[in-house]
Amino acid sequence: ASVFEHIQQAPEDPILGVTVAFNKDPSPMKVNLGVGAYRTEEGKPLVLNVVRQAEERLLADRTQNKEYQPITGVAQFNKLSAQLILGANSVAIKENRVTTVQALSGTGALRVGAEFLAKHYGKPVIYVPVPTWGNHNKIFPLGGVPVKPYHYYDPKTRGLDYQGMIDDLRAAPVGAVVLLHACAHNPTGVDPTEEQWEGIRKVIRSKQQLPFFDCAYQGFASGSLDTDAHAVRSFVADGGECLIAQSYAKNMGLYGERIGALSIVCRSAAVASRVDSQLKLVIRPMYSSPPAHGALIAASILGDRDLFADWTVELKAMADRIISMRHQLYDTLKARGTPGDWTHILKQIGMFTFTGLNPEQVQFMTREYHIYMTLDGRISMAGLSTKTIPHLADAINATVL
Ligand code: PMP
Repeated sequence: ASVFEHIQQAPEDPILGVTVAFNKDPSPMKVNLGVGAYRTEEGKPLVLNVVRQAEERLLADRTQNKEYQPITGVAQFNKLSAQLILGANSVAIKENRVTTVQALSGTGALRVGAEFLAKHYGKPVIYVPVPTWGNHNKIFPLGGVPVKPYHYYDPKTRGLDYQGMIDDLRAAPVGAVVLLHACAHNPTGVDPTEEQWEGIRKVIRSKQQLPFFDCAYQGFASGSLDTDAHAVRSFVADGGECLIAQSYAKNMGLYGERIGALSIVCRSAAVASRVDSQLKLVIRPMYSSPPAHGALIAASILGDRDLFADWTVELKAMADRIISMRHQLYDTLKARGTPGDWTHILKQIGMFTFTGLNPEQVQFMTREYHIYMTLDGRISMAGLSTKTIPHLADAINATVL
């Protein structure tokens, strides 16, 4: 008998499992709205032109080798990543108060941040919005930081429960870590307004709580890198400290390259330098040092004026296609006379719409219409096209009628 005989079959991941089920479905009309990956109007994955160009330059450069990177990754990549999220003129960067390490995409940045906090921030607890990206609830406890909830989404308005959020943060302990989605909240697509961010910032600072920004969609929400960095920059502008996990999966389409960064903004350069030294002790026994390829691609795009400019155009085109899908889906439901208020499809931002459909309705749509999505009713707008929207509208219409 195997020494592993007792092991039980684990369930599929709630998000990635949707793709597993989708791949098994032979129907030609099937649509995958589960995973948050951009698709073209033809339903194909997109490699950005600027990424192809950066890769060609890397290949042509015979001085490139395959040596190990430092524990904290490609230095130029780290510097440019901090500038991207904090702004090229960031005072915190000028004062050398920001330490940045390369990470295995957003997930890896969150995990390194969690383990760092578990080691060096007393007995940390992190407050996360309800709902949140499901992996948060696993990354943080496994990294040594238990998770507690704060109110975020209001199913009645399909918008932000601002008062509930503020009340929960006020009631949370002094010093608690607060996870904030920097923009394009996943799964709800509901973000605070600038005014509301200001209220959130005041509560968090007045309670000396520590913001941990998860920034997986910079540029993807509004189409502008700067607009989508507003919340993070407002917290850094007040001189306070925070952690930021960045991912280049969506905004550069570098999903499988696993490229991201963790920045920790500190009060002083001396503290930042000590924090950096301790981050190395977290990373070294975890994976020793990060892979080079994605970091070199991202660094060449971020560091080249022309490539950077071309990137912002390609990024805006992706964001615009998603926004146009919102309008087309809304218009099609209106034209069908589908009962209910669907304006949240237009109001929510980023990759996802939180449709408000319940698990039974989702299962019905998968069974009868071969449309795949997570049971919470989240659909990836990036997985839709002009061709598939009528089919989705038929399915929604049939399920709510
Ligand atoms: N945070 C959020 C909110 C996300 O939606 C994602 C991607 N689904 C991530 C982090 C991290 O993704 P990755 O590790 O691929 O960068």
